[in-house]
Amino acid sequence: MTYKFNPIPRVLMGPGPSDVHPRVLRAMSAPLYGHLDPLFVQMMDEVKSMVQQCFITENLLTFVVSAPGSAGMETCLVNLLEPGDECIICVNGVFGGRMVDIAERCGAKVHRIDTEWGKVTEPDQVKKALDACPKPKLLAIVHAETSTGALQPLEEISKIVHEAGALFVVDAVTSFCGVPLEVDKWQIDAIYTGTQKCLSAPPGLSPVSFSEAAVKVLDNRKTKVQSWFLDLTMVKNYWAGAKRAYHHTAPVSSVYALHEALNIVLEEGLEARWARHQEVHQYLRKQLEARGFRFLVEEPYRLPNLNSVYLPEGCDEAALRSQLLNKYNIEVGSGLGAFAGKIWRVGIMGESATKNHVNLLTGALDELM
Ligand SMILES: *Cc1c(COP(=O)(O)O)cnc(C)c1O
Repeated sequence: MTYKFNPIPRVLMGPGPSDVHPRVLRAMSAPLYGHLDPLFVQMMDEVKSMVQQCFITENLLTFVVSAPGSAGMETCLVNLLEPGDECIICVNGVFGGRMVDIAERCGAKVHRIDTEWGKVTEPDQVKKALDACPKPKLLAIVHAETSTGALQPLEEISKIVHEAGALFVVDAVTSFCGVPLEVDKWQIDAIYTGTQKCLSAPPGLSPVSFSEAAVKVLDNRKTKVQSWFLDLTMVKNYWAGAKRAYHHTAPVSSVYALHEALNIVLEEGLEARWARHQEVHQYLRKQLEARGFRFLVEEPYRLPNLNSVYLPEGCDEAALRSQLLNKYNIEVGSGLGAFAGKIWRVGIMGESATKNHVNLLTGALDELM
């Protein structure tokens, strides 16, 4: 008895994963190397350099965690927080809430800044939080909240956080390679992202980067990092080029895929890629609004690559979504939390950010509605 699984091509327009370029799929089918093979180590060095270019950073401690975006989140928090530390976390959706959970498990005392879902955190709220907690170890915030489609401005908050002497930690899982993001210029101390959103590689890896100030905090820890696997003091040696020693077996084929996906991003150019996401977003917006969809997030804070929309009056969102998937092979995302059953989350990320994708979706909707 054998079990067969032959996936048919889907059109991925949800909150991730996004469609993957055939070049990336081809890269994954290449023969395996041993993960300490000099040729593989050289390829990992190239991955590191391309991740630095895409984050726009010169941070030396830049590498890829062998696990999905959530592990990147956990890597940043478990390494920078020790039991008893105070921190501030901004929560305006699912992923801010996840950061609170992780920070509490680190034994940190968490001060939350709660903002209505679909809105962004204002600099004044950060100032107020600093009154209650004047010397936090770090402030963590989500750049692109995928549960709502809100894009968080970062620069002003970064200034306030540094004036208070704290580290600035950013979730860039959905923003990376889709909207403007400049790690050094915006003085971000610790940042993580994922591969399956605007980078358009398969899920399962998490590029991260740490500033000198963050490395200093790491070096001055008094307690061991709670997680063995994510302990940077050990993992960073694994990404240290020729001196590499065994830590865990790298997911070889996934790193091949990431290498090719990063090449594709840099061939297009970051700015051209940001502009493409914005242009396709404007096209999608026109098409959806013409059919009676309404945006959840106010215009200035709308994330171009993840569009949260209320359906037209009288639509059964779950039935329509399942018809899109089963009859047209198109995936769109459902709402989370209070928005469950009320909105769709339409992703146009990476390879899925094309007018052809939008036309497929709206063509199918015109037949179904
Ligand atoms: C998807 C996502 C994550 C988690 O990434 P996984 O790869 O699913 O673990 C974290 N933060 C944000 C903002 C995300 O969109």
